[in-house]
Amino acid sequence: MTASDQLSEPTATDCKCLWCGRSIRYDSSFKEMFFIDDVICSRCRQKLSARRQMFKVEGISIEGFYVYDGLVRDMLLQYKENCDEALFLVFLYPFIREMKRKYRGYTLVPVPSSDEMMNKRGFRHVNKMFSLLDLPTCDLIEKTDNVEQKKSSSRQEIGRHFRLNAELSATTEKILLADDIVTTGASMVSCYRLLKQKYAEISCLSVSYSRQFSRKLFIFTKN
Ligand SMILES: [Zn+2]
Repeated sequence: MTASDQLSEPTATDCKCLWCGRSIRYDSSFKEMFFIDDVICSRCRQKLSARRQMFKVEGISIEGFYVYDGLVRDMLLQYKENCDEALFLVFLYPFIREMKRKYRGYTLVPVPSSDEMMNKRGFRHVNKMFSLLDLPTCDLIEKTDNVEQKKSSSRQEIGRHFRLNAELSATTEKILLADDIVTTGASMVSCYRLLKQKYAEISCLSVSYSRQFSRKLFIFTKN
């Protein structure tokens, strides 16, 4: 079978966009042929408009992929609050190949949610999104309480919600600290500082970040 025969196979026409329900190859564009594993259509993908960048919070560099706004916010809320687990593939899909290369040899440490929220969802939403990286995962940080922190919590208060899990150790020296949203950065910074007590090399990644950080961007450079 030639490459052109494979491309004309109708298999992908059965795939529906997880967001709008259109066929993923509805306009049969050349580009879509090569994004055939995507779970949303090119129109929804374009609307998501990734803005990958690095920003700093209290001197700590965090890499983010989307401004938390518009369709990104809608999809994340549908995924998290309405427990639409199938959407886990959407967010990091365009970056997977490069991220797998970049973070080879790291252990993934998710910023934890409260047990209350985790039980409500029935799945661990951050772990699930970052599972695409195929990294060993270790819950080195745990919540000290079971309730979600209030948005109005101060940095100091948020810091008190986390502690290092003394019983666990990562099997690698490098840590990838990951979250779904950086709103003020307080949770990420608190977790980073806890991990820094034991690990020298920590990278911070967040699927999305609040608009305030998009003004503080500096140029993202590939490794
Ligand atoms: Zn769509």
